[in-house]
Amino acid sequence: MAGLVNMKAKDYEDGLKILEDITSNAHEIQEKVLEDILRRNSGTEYLKGFLNGQIDKQLFKKNVPIVTYEDIKPYMDRIANGEPSNILLAEPITGFFRSGTSGGQAKLIPSTAEFILEKFALFLTMTASVVKKHVHGFEHGKRIYFMFGKPEIETPSGLMARSVSTSYFKSINFAKTVSENHTNPIETVLCPDSKQSMFCQLLAGLIHRDEVVSIGSFSLSAVVRTIKFLEDHWKELCFNIETGHVSDWINDSGCRTAMSLILKPDPKLANSLEMICCSKSWEGIIQKLWPKTKFIDAIATGGMGQYVTALNFYSGGLPIVSPFYASSEALFGINLEPLNKPSDVSYTFLPNMAYFEFIPVEKDDGEEVQFNGVSDQEHPIETKHKDEDTEPVDLVNVTPGQYYEVVVTTSSGLYRYRVGDILMATGFHNNSPQFQFVERKNVILSIDADKTSESDLIKAVEEAKALLDPVDLLLIGFSSYADTSSIPGHYAVFWELKTKQGDDVKELDPEIMVQCCSIMEESLSYIYKVYRKENAIAALEIRVVKNGSFDALMDYFVSQGASMNQYKAPSCIKTKEAVEILNSRVTGRFFSQKTF
Ligand code: AMP
Repeated sequence: MAGLVNMKAKDYEDGLKILEDITSNAHEIQEKVLEDILRRNSGTEYLKGFLNGQIDKQLFKKNVPIVTYEDIKPYMDRIANGEPSNILLAEPITGFFRSGTSGGQAKLIPSTAEFILEKFALFLTMTASVVKKHVHGFEHGKRIYFMFGKPEIETPSGLMARSVSTSYFKSINFAKTVSENHTNPIETVLCPDSKQSMFCQLLAGLIHRDEVVSIGSFSLSAVVRTIKFLEDHWKELCFNIETGHVSDWINDSGCRTAMSLILKPDPKLANSLEMICCSKSWEGIIQKLWPKTKFIDAIATGGMGQYVTALNFYSGGLPIVSPFYASSEALFGINLEPLNKPSDVSYTFLPNMAYFEFIPVEKDDGEEVQFNGVSDQEHPIETKHKDEDTEPVDLVNVTPGQYYEVVVTTSSGLYRYRVGDILMATGFHNNSPQFQFVERKNVILSIDADKTSESDLIKAVEEAKALLDPVDLLLIGFSSYADTSSIPGHYAVFWELKTKQGDDVKELDPEIMVQCCSIMEESLSYIYKVYRKENAIAALEIRVVKNGSFDALMDYFVSQGASMNQYKAPSCIKTKEAVEILNSRVTGRFFSQKTF
């Protein structure tokens, strides 16, 4: 979101100054952040139980347990159901952030005015200051920043639960910011229908094509998906520009009004766009359509790494700026070398955003770290906690080269909370450490903000395979991967089947297989379904492989050094070679027809 802040020259200078200041005094600032949190909140029901009202940092570390969402969920539920939020934090909460989670319901994380109006705004100011320092002319011209509000729900307490980005879009400063330096009218961002929203944001971006200096979105997957949408809809968009009329199916009144203000008949522009779009190959289309674009602005590390190749194709190799690392729970750090390739990006932690601790984790020896989707390396990374009793270390005490799981204590009511992200310390800027994002703990499949764990997938497979029993079939092996070779990407699940008599399967009933796909989707998380509904994830696929395929997979892993005795087919495969072994043995492909 490097482009969200409407800033003057002095703001950029101040941003860099604050950054230098806080990173130089990381230790002192961390101590102060923790002290403030304890002073404000030691009287809450939650902390009183561990600290007895004392404001003592040592006691905090000794007594307050390190927790996961499941541990604190009862508190979130109580607040969502109407109990006062001061059972958890002193500052009044203004709502909840709805965060993606693997399985079940979305997580509810308390949000406060301080988070959105102060912390988030400062975080974006510093991010934009760094980008401006590295990208000449970044502050001039307009930005296309594709933004899509997500559905919000009202909890029984009356407090709204929405995604961080939707909360920010709804904040007071945002509309003004957008109108001044972004092509997308605020109404198109707030439109609840993502297809209409995407169409109108593209239309506005094309109308302003000669002023655009950057194109982005929160995540790289959204940029790629929007360009793909353009590939499918460019004729209609050009026709709208030629005639000056927005298509009739755009029936959101906000979108129609906003577009009517900027859309005038412009046959010349429509013709130039058509000439570009009708080209057979869309390689480099972004630079052709928006010739002044200097960079792509979107998170491109971790799970988003799988979209770098597709984006490079469309952009013709424009730099990708992966600006920051943040979550609903806390804002962590920003990328001080924004022009680095995504695979080389580290994020410098900002010590004033939260109190950070790090649990050391071990990575299996001899394996290469996989930062970007399907790896070229032989094995994906496997991390495990060094020892359950390992003490977490403070921010300034991390060791470069070591892997950690990040734990946060925030002013919004999270105390020693495991975020679930694995990071590797890479160095320091002044006295603040820098980290590469390694992986989301326990998540095996992810296309966008969806996070599916191994147990979620197993549960989905278990539910679906119940349909096999009545037709005398057995599932004898399964695995999966996130297939992003086409946009939008989808979950591909390999199944090896046999008859109950032990014979090869001669014929499959397509109806049953399609139903199996649908049952699996039904079983997946709420966030998965939201993204399916928006067509940000395509239909789940079952690929039936011929008999012996999973033996071939085992042979491959054993040839790569896996122990035959301990071998267990992985629920998710991450290397190109392993995916190819199963893909080359596919005998049938079935897709879910479930509508969301
Ligand atoms: P949510 O709270 O649903 O917005 O998701 C936040 C999660 O997205 C983080 O905990 C990370 O797992 C992931 N994430 C956020 N920023 C980055 C980044 N820069 N690189 C990789 N993953 C990220």
